[in-house]
Amino acid sequence: MIIGNWKMNTLRADALALANAVVGMDRLNSTRIGICSPALWIDPITQIVKHSSILVGAQDCVGDNFGAQTGCINADMVRDAGCSMVILGHSERRARFGESTDKLLNTIAAVLETGMFPVVCVGETKKQRESGKAFDVVAEQLKPLLTAGLDLGGIVIAYEPVWAIGTGLSATRKDIEEMHATVREVINRNDTVVLYGGSVSPESADDVFNAEGVSGALVGGASLNVDKFAAIVAAWERK
Ligand code: PEP
Repeated sequence: MIIGNWKMNTLRADALALANAVVGMDRLNSTRIGICSPALWIDPITQIVKHSSILVGAQDCVGDNFGAQTGCINADMVRDAGCSMVILGHSERRARFGESTDKLLNTIAAVLETGMFPVVCVGETKKQRESGKAFDVVAEQLKPLLTAGLDLGGIVIAYEPVWAIGTGLSATRKDIEEMHATVREVINRNDTVVLYGGSVSPESADDVFNAEGVSGALVGGASLNVDKFAAIVAAWERK
């Protein structure tokens, strides 16, 4: 599965053009492709992809019921708009809004409840890796999932080392293999879909995808460029 996380990018026309191009990629490939656009473009994008197998997702939502929460969008609304997934706990949101897996449990449960799948992001900072704490940090980010009575089979994990996001630095094959094995060990499931994210590009994709235990990628910057995203999908196809 290759998921594009467009983050806070695209005006409407760009978003719709990009979504149309991704539909073209879907016709040429058997890879499961997803688009997580800004929330405003979800509705028109679902119209564009409706005769394809492209999945549409949100980049965040809240887990609460309808109510007085100015500016928030809940899981039911996201589902009703046609989404199949929601990215939760991205490092940019963990850093900026103080999100933690603990605080997200309610949202993860609400997303699962609607039948969508959450893509829960975990990953260590550069400082944490350099001080040998990467595995502990990721394990701590995962552990709350184990005690909340969630259907772990419905959760996708994205390992995204913070130091690799948007920096052009991708984790090494060894780093990726070790961490993906750790993720599956901590959550005690071999069948979990574990994506890698962090500067995946046409240049790094073959290396990343050849790492054992990688189920696909969460792609930020390169997902905004049709040719780069298509090249990443093609790399997954030839894996
Ligand atoms: C991301 O933020 O999810 C991401 C992987 O970004 P990039 O590919 O730009 O590093």
